[in-house]
Amino acid sequence: MTVTVATNLADALAALRATPEARLLQGGTDTMVEINFNHYKPEHIVALRKVEELRSFSIQEDKGEIFIGSGVPYQTLENDPFLTLLPALAQASRTVGSPQIRAAGSLGGNLGTCSPAGDGLPVLSALDAIVHLRSVDDSRDVLFHDFMTGVKRNTRKPDEIITGVTVPILNGFQGYSKVGVRNAMVISVASACLAVDKATAQVRLALGAVGPTIIRCRDTEQWLSAQVDVTASVFSNAAAKEFGRRAALEARPIDDHRSTAEYRRHAISVLAERLLLKANS
Ligand SMILES: Cc1cc2nc3c(=O)[nH]c(=O)nc-3n(C[C@H](O)[C@H](O)[C@H](O)COP(=O)(O)OP(=O)(O)OC[C@H]3O[C@@H](n4cnc5c(N)ncnc54)[C@H](O)[C@@H]3O)c2cc1C
Repeated sequence: MTVTVATNLADALAALRATPEARLLQGGTDTMVEINFNHYKPEHIVALRKVEELRSFSIQEDKGEIFIGSGVPYQTLENDPFLTLLPALAQASRTVGSPQIRAAGSLGGNLGTCSPAGDGLPVLSALDAIVHLRSVDDSRDVLFHDFMTGVKRNTRKPDEIITGVTVPILNGFQGYSKVGVRNAMVISVASACLAVDKATAQVRLALGAVGPTIIRCRDTEQWLSAQVDVTASVFSNAAAKEFGRRAALEARPIDDHRSTAEYRRHAISVLAERLLLKANS
């Protein structure tokens, strides 16, 4: 096995171009589990941990958005300025694993793995984030919805590195909740991110762990917009209950070792209802 420890993005991209089958390694919190359990034996590794360009973030106030490098760890994302500007991302980051996992694990790794249970992904969906990809001679920007194509599948090409995401800063409530088999160190059985965008009078809802991809509940969102003035952010108990019921219908859960599909659907109805009630101003 060869291991290339890149110290800048250009070197990392060149190493990946030379061995496109290489496994990129950021925090290693997904990859090392696969290797340790003998589920995967990479021939080449390109380690990104020392690539500073991937570990920074910038707030573009004029555009109302934040660029987050793919290597920024959750331990950064769970605190300010994210807590204030992207609270749903901060909340989701705080639910990931343990402090040790959050010190190493990154949003780039969550995107690289693309598990439907990845806690960062419903947030990127609800906030309409853009994923940035680079290769030696090309760069492209892909809406998160077009990036994730299935369970652990995405549109990244073998010679591309995810450099980061751009996330719009919205005016309005946002929240993330998940259900697992216990309260800490747990992979989601069902999760939901709700974001109110007062500028477009939209409530956006994205679901995790209840389908092959993250699910945006477009029908439920439209139904709510037709019922209430979203800019006023006053949601009745009845509207919230119906919102939850409709969201559960948009879920596509399966039975597996973590949960039954029926329980997952029920969990989504509760999560969506509670998140909408929390959005009451
Ligand atoms: C004990 C434990 C608890 C966990 N709990 C949670 C949890 O609660 N919620 C959750 O969502 N996840 C959880 N995870 C999974 C993991 O921590 C996350 O998925 C994390 O985001 C992975 O980030 P990483 O930087 O460690 O990725 P890595 O393991 O380094 O990489 C993961 C994948 O992404 C690819 N990749 C990494 N960086 C890039 C890049 N820049 N461009 C392209 N591809 C890239 C890698 O090649 C690999 O395929 C847990 C893991 C463990 C071991």
